[in-house]
Parts: sequence; structure tokens; C-alpha cells
Amino acid sequence: MSAKNPDRVVIVGGGTAGWMTASYLKAAFGDRLSVTLVESGKIGTIGVGEATFSDIRHFFEFLDLKEEDWMPACNATYKLAVRFEDWRGPGHHFYHPFEQLRSAGGFPLTDWWLRNGPSERFDKDCFVMASLCDNGRSPRRLDGSLLDQDFAEGAGDPAGLTMSEHQGKTQFPYAYHFEAALLAEYLAGYSIDRGVRRIVDEVRHVRLDERGWIDHVVTKEHGQIHGDLFVDCTGFRGVLLNQALDVPFVSYQDTLPNDSAVALQVPLDTEKAGLRPCTTATAQKAGWIWTIPLIGRIGTGYVYAKDYCEQEEAERTLREFAGPGAAEVEANHIRMRIGRSEQSWKNNCVAVGLSSGFVEPLESTGIFFIHHAIEQLVKHFPAADWHPRLRERYNSAVANVMDGVREFLVVHYKGAARDDTRYWKDTKTRAMPDALAERIERWQVQLPDSENVFPYYHGLPPYSYMCVLLGTGGIPLRPSSALNLSDETAARKEFAAIRDKAKFLVDTLPSQYEYLAELRA
Ligand code: FAD
Repeated sequence: MSAKNPDRVVIVGGGTAGWMTASYLKAAFGDRLSVTLVESGKIGTIGVGEATFSDIRHFFEFLDLKEEDWMPACNATYKLAVRFEDWRGPGHHFYHPFEQLRSAGGFPLTDWWLRNGPSERFDKDCFVMASLCDNGRSPRRLDGSLLDQDFAEGAGDPAGLTMSEHQGKTQFPYAYHFEAALLAEYLAGYSIDRGVRRIVDEVRHVRLDERGWIDHVVTKEHGQIHGDLFVDCTGFRGVLLNQALDVPFVSYQDTLPNDSAVALQVPLDTEKAGLRPCTTATAQKAGWIWTIPLIGRIGTGYVYAKDYCEQEEAERTLREFAGPGAAEVEANHIRMRIGRSEQSWKNNCVAVGLSSGFVEPLESTGIFFIHHAIEQLVKHFPAADWHPRLRERYNSAVANVMDGVREFLVVHYKGAARDDTRYWKDTKTRAMPDALAERIERWQVQLPDSENVFPYYHGLPPYSYMCVLLGTGGIPLRPSSALNLSDETAARKEFAAIRDKAKFLVDTLPSQYEYLAELRA
């Protein structure tokens, strides 16, 4: 290994994680870093991963890519929320939107809603996004401006911060859906234009030096590839970190039992069908089905636990759900490794993507994990001495994000009022991550706030927990007792303002289809 600053990076794997890492490193360090990416032409990518978090916009901004540059190339659409269907019971739905929660008289509006909300729908009463989703609206007007000045781009949003530094300052009103394969190809083009060397070949061996650090990888046709820093983006295989460096995998399976998925790419006439601007998660007998609207097709998949559902039954359920348009489409069956590597960075190897860790895709956090990891990698990039403190900081930031998201997902299942099958009954008695039981007990008398949710950055603000608790409906909640003694005039005004704004926006915004047709023209 070279004695100078580590400046030769070798990325193994060319899925979303590999190409996001390559492009981000080039945007961060330019020609001061040499980047080689090796991807197998035979081992496929996971082929899913199409919905994101709103923070993803910082990734595209960092690469200096505008929506009109990349969205049409990736058949991308907007996502204003996750829509949960049937989690409380058949026919019920609620949204978890990308929208800050307002407050009135010093209390969050959800508290007031619990006390005496204007309607049965907390999501429509407390957020405008729920109405925009129900009505298929675009978050942008035809002139390209954002829906409303309250969501103005850049307001209070200084450039150059990492996601964790942004949190709490603003909530950008949307994320994206995109075709994973098209995005990887787009980012490959971006990276190669900026000097990344792409090698299509399979890594057969990983050679370590006498200290146990990676010296080089051996490929089938291109011989040895040497580097200083190796990034493992080989997906669930974890070829470098888990296999060669023997880093153990910490399973989350005891608390999140879904370990399987089956996915379909269903062609769709988007103009006729319209484009719902949200991801939908529909509860099923042994898990849930995602629906992701893209230009020209939907991505859909059943996430389930094999202890409760056979593979054939899962595929049948998904095909029935997707309808006749899916009849000719081949199903992609996936076994999921749920949990995280004990450390994501060991010696000179950093795992990014599925090799680092993964929780089921209920809140679309896989790509968020990747984005967070590469931001942290840049922030903690090693110097010549490979100072161990940088690795430690990196490892704890990455572990906290995944552990925090795990907790958040467990709340969905614990909270779901639905208990009509063995699967849903068992969600109420299953083990929980340490401390969550105590937190839930507190939330029952005081709704989630920044002091009583998972204490480290994990991308989910307290309002997200409120949405899930209020929406799933299985955990009894009550408003703050202080509201009995408080004047509710300000809250009434706020509810009225949200209702009026939602109506104005629904009346004046174009449909998502109209807006994207214009963008793609
Ligand atoms: P992969 O896509 O598996 O890529 C692995 C790469 O490594 C491939 O290029 C392969 O060729 C290469 N490779 C492997 N072994 C070798 C070798 N020996 N030599 C050379 N190359 C090798 N995330 C979201 O954010 N939103 C979602 O909606 C979402 N949905 C998901 C649904 C499911 C069912 C699953 C399982 C995941 C989902 N994810 C989602 C996660 C998301 O798909 C991944 O985080 C993302 O695609 C990154 O995958 P990856 O690049 O780590 O791995």
C-alpha cells in the first residue's frame, strides 16, 4: 500500500451503491482521487430500489445535476409521501408526508388534533400533502417553481451541509421514484466522463497483506487491481467486508421478520392511469406490497416473511394485486439479508449499500443509507495515518442510522391495529429493540418529540413517528393534558389555514402527469 495519502480508490460492484459512490467521490475530490470501479457482467444487480427519501435532493445538488438533466433519463417521478393502506384495517389509508408539522400555542398540531381534530383524518387536517397525493398533484408549477413559498428552495437551507446537519432546519417537500438500472447507468456516464475507470469483470479473490488489510483484488480477466481504499458495493454477498475480512453480520430478524420479496415491473399507460405522487405500501396477510409509479410502468413487490408465506403464494398474491397487466411479466424473487455489518469500515475496506446493511424497504431507506454512508466517508476520509478515530466515528454514525431506522420500522408493526392473521397477531408480541418499549410507553402520554425518540441521527424526525402512530391506530395515544387548560383559538386557525391552502394548491397545481410531460418534452 502507498505511504502517501490514500488516493487510489477501488470500488467493487456497479449497482446503485457502486455508481452513487463513484460519482459522489468524483464530485467531492475530482482528479485528486483516482477511482476504479469493477462490476461483474454476470452477477446481476438487485434490480429494485426505486423510491427515496427527500434528502436525496442533496445528492443530486452535490453532483450539480438538475431535475431536467436526470429525471427524464431515469423515468423518474415525484414522491410527496408514503401512503399506507390497510394497516389499521381494510379500506383505511393514511399518509406519511414530506412536510414539517406545524404547531399552535406551543404544542404540535397533532396534539391539538388528538384533543379535538376537525375530522377523522389527522393527515389531511395537519398536512397539505395528503390532499395533493389524493388528487395526483405535482409539487411544481408549469413554470418550474415550487408549489408554495412555505416550501421555497434554499430558505434556511445553507449549502454544503451533510444530511444530518440539515435535519430539523427544513423539510424539502418531495423525494423521487426512479428506475434503479437507469439511474445506475446515468451515474456511470457521469462518473466515466469525470475520469472513473470502469472494468467489467468478476473479482475472484481478495488478497490481504500481512496486517490483514486489502492489498489487491484479483479479477478473472483483468488480473490484479491494486488500490489504497477498497469500497465493497457487492450487495448482499459482501465479498470484501464480510467474506474476505470476516466482519460478522448482526441480524435484525428477531425484530423485523420479513426476509423475502417478489417484484414485478408492470407496464402502464401513464397518461391514461395518471401518476399518484407517492409510494404506496398496502398491508397483506403476511407482509405488505409496494407500488411505485414511474413513467411507463409501475414497480411493485410483495415483502413477506417466509415463515408465514410460501414463495408461490407470495407471487400469486402479488399477481392478483397487480392485475392483468402483469400476466406476461417475469417475477424477481429476492432473499433479503436484514441487519447490518458489525462494522461497515474495517482496515482499508468500507462497505456501502446492501453489503453494509439493509432493513426492509417499508420507508425506502436503502438509498438513503447509501447517501448517508458516502457523505460520512467524505467527511471522515482517511489521511496517510489512517487514524482509527475516523473509522470509529464513521462506524458509529452508520450503525446509528440503521439501528434507528430499525426502531422506526418496528413501530409500524407494533402500532398496526390490524390483527386478522397469525402474521399480524405476532407483530404485537414480537421482541423489540432495547428501549423501544419504554419509548412507546412515554409516547402514550406525550407524543414523540426530539427528546424521546431514538437519540442519534437516523433521518426520521419526530413528526414521522407521530404520523405512523396516529395512522396505524393500534397504540392508544392521548393529547397533552396541558391542552385542557389552553386556549385553542390558534390551533383552530392553523387547521383552517391548512384546509384553505390544501384547497388552493389542489385547484392551482398541475397534475404530476402534466408537469412531467412538460419536463420531458
Ligand atoms: P446490488 O444492486 O446487488 O449490486 C451489487 C453489484 O456488485 C452488482 O453490480 C454485481 O455485479 C457486483 N458484484 C457482486 N459480486 C461481485 C464480484 N465478485 N465481482 C465483481 N462484481 C460483483 N432502497 C430504497 O432506497 N428504496 C426502495 O424502494 C428499495 N426497495 C427495495 C426492495 C427490495 C426487495 C430490496 C431487497 C431492496 C430495496 N432497496 C430499496 C434497497 C436498494 O435496492 C439497494 O440499497 C440498492 O439497490 C443498492 O444495492 P447495491 O448496489 O448495494 O447492491
